[in-house]
Amino acid sequence: VTPTSFPCSRATNSNFAAAAGEMDSRGFDSTGREFSSATEMWAQEIGATASASASASEVPPGAAAPSNGDAGEEAGGEGKREEWYSKGIAYWQGVEASTEGVLGGYGCVNDADVKGSAAFLRPLLAERFGAVKRHLVALDCGSGIGRVTKNFLIKHFNEVDLVEPVAHFLEAARENLSSCMDVGHDTHKAANFYCIPLQDFTPEEGRYDVIWIQWCIGQLTDDDFISFFNRAKVIRFTL
Ligand code: SAH
Repeated sequence: VTPTSFPCSRATNSNFAAAAGEMDSRGFDSTGREFSSATEMWAQEIGATASASASASEVPPGAAAPSNGDAGEEAGGEGKREEWYSKGIAYWQGVEASTEGVLGGYGCVNDADVKGSAAFLRPLLAERFGAVKRHLVALDCGSGIGRVTKNFLIKHFNEVDLVEPVAHFLEAARENLSSCMDVGHDTHKAANFYCIPLQDFTPEEGRYDVIWIQWCIGQLTDDDFISFFNRAKVIRFTL
C-alpha cells in the first residue's frame, strides 16, 4: 500500500500510512482507524491475504482469517475487493477532467512533476536504447486526461497508448491528444485509448518499450499491483 499521498488518495477509501522504510509497520487510514500492519489493513479492506509478503502470523487475532489459496479466493474477498475498486472509481467519476482535478487540487505542481519525470526517463532511455534511432512505444497507465502523455511521454515516444477506467477522463484525453506531434522528421501520436482498469488489463506482449504508471498504482490492492507488474514484464522474444 502506498503511503498516503495526493492524488492517489481516495476520499472514500482507506490509505495506509506506513513508517518510511517499513512495509509492515503500524499505520492509520484516512478515517483515523489504526492498524498494526498493512496486512491487517488489507484483511479489513478486502478480507484477503492481499499483501503478497504477508504471512499468517502477521494477521492479529480478530482480523479476517487468511485464506489458504490464492489471494482473493477467501470468503467475502471478491465482494470486498469489488467494493474497494467501485469506491475508488466513484471518487474519480466525480472529479473534473482537468489538470487541477487529476492532481487532487495541486495543479501547481504540474511543471515540476513533468520536469522530474523527464529527468528520470532521459538517462534510462539513453541506457536502454542508446543513440540508435528506433520506433519507441509507451503505455500510460491510469492516464487520466492524458496530462502525462501530452506534456511528456509523447515527446519521447512515437506512439503512446493510454489505459484509464474513467470514461470522462479518457474522452478528455482523446480531445487533448487528437493531433499528432512532429518531432524532427518523426510523427509522434497517441495511438490507442483503452477504457479499462489496470487490474483487468494485460499489456500486449512485446509492444511497449516503457510502461509508465504515474499517480495511479495506489489505486490497486497490493496483490493486484504485483500481478500487474508480472503481466507487464512478459517480453516476447523474436528470433
Ligand atoms: N496519471 C494521471 C492521472 C492521475 S489521477 C496524471 O498523472 O495526470 C489517478 C488516475 O488513476 C485517475 O485518472 C483515475 O481514474 C485512475 N484510476 C483509478 N482507479 C484505477 C484503476 N483501478 N486502474 C487504473 N487507473 C485507475
